[in-house]
Amino acid sequence: MQNRQWILKQRPEGAVSASDFEWVERPAPPLEPGEARISTVYLSLDPAARIWIAGPSYMPAVEIGDVMRGIGLGRVQESRDGSLRPGDLVTGLLGWQQYATLPAAALTRIDALPGIPLTAYLHVLGHIGLTAYFGLLDVGRPRSGETLVVSAAAGAVGSLAAQIGKISGCRVVGIAGGPEKCGWLTGELGLDAAVDYKNQDVAGALREATPDGIDVDFENVGGEILDAVLARINQNARIVLCGLISQYNLKRPAPGPSHFARVLTQRARIEGFIVTDYLPRAHEALPVLGDWLRRGRLKYRVEVVKGLEDAPRALGKLFDGSNQGKLILQVSEES
Ligand code: NDP
Repeated sequence: MQNRQWILKQRPEGAVSASDFEWVERPAPPLEPGEARISTVYLSLDPAARIWIAGPSYMPAVEIGDVMRGIGLGRVQESRDGSLRPGDLVTGLLGWQQYATLPAAALTRIDALPGIPLTAYLHVLGHIGLTAYFGLLDVGRPRSGETLVVSAAAGAVGSLAAQIGKISGCRVVGIAGGPEKCGWLTGELGLDAAVDYKNQDVAGALREATPDGIDVDFENVGGEILDAVLARINQNARIVLCGLISQYNLKRPAPGPSHFARVLTQRARIEGFIVTDYLPRAHEALPVLGDWLRRGRLKYRVEVVKGLEDAPRALGKLFDGSNQGKLILQVSEES
């Protein structure tokens, strides 16, 4: 069986380009006992991809010549393990390829719920939902009446963190790029205010939008946006360091935030977290996220780009903000 794959050719300098990857077509390996062959349906394109190809981090680096790492959802085609049968839906680190050959133990079987689109398993009911849920509730610990600020608020993780903030009784202010995204935040998602960092002075707009200061910051961006937030934090503020997307493409480390001393004087807590640490607790979050989803308390947008061939170009959308919600690549038909 012929496989189609994207291989990492070189470590990018700055923004990712298609020339950092190489398109390869070669036979899929034979199945060993305990393994399954998955036909990829959807691949989640995540900002973390940029971290994985830069070098070792919270996961080993993707090495030159390796299939590009990516979380995906697919159907079992063939299995040599009793836990999986052909036709089963699974998620896992399928990689940027049409067919993934993996140990069954590295895959999670999905019992698709009626009425829930399959893409939700790479969003609200997958790693994105878990990131927003545990990042906000476990690390940020918001209380009713507090002010929460979320950056990259119109994106996948940010839009869920902001809505979970509303469910928790917070005043929620989102920061996003452009009037369309900001309008979606204050309109359909019901946020209290939105700051358009591409068209407004962030410090001034944030001052207006947070008259009582900021108690919790769900930080997805870093850089100047984090700095503007630090200038407004209240005593005992919690800064949930989920991501620093404005830094991932930098060739040299950026200077630290100029308002860092506010962490000291306001007795604030900054805590980084990685969602994989919470996977053993996924069973706590998924039923709650599913319930909020069914009751319309969580809304989400998905942008599906078709074709494995387009993966490197599509990844770039996360960094210029042209993605409208969770960015997903469709590799094959759902059934
Ligand atoms: P998104 O759907 O939010 O897409 C990324 C968005 O980031 C873009 O749409 C853009 O929105 C914004 N952005 C990109 N570059 C910049 C910049 N220079 N300045 C300001 N905003 C920028 O992606 P995800 O929801 O998947 O990821 C969001 C964040 O969460 C990332 O930082 C990611 O690394 C992090 N993350 C962390 C996890 C963890 O375990 N800690 C797990 C998953 C994600 P706009 O149009 O508003 O500019």
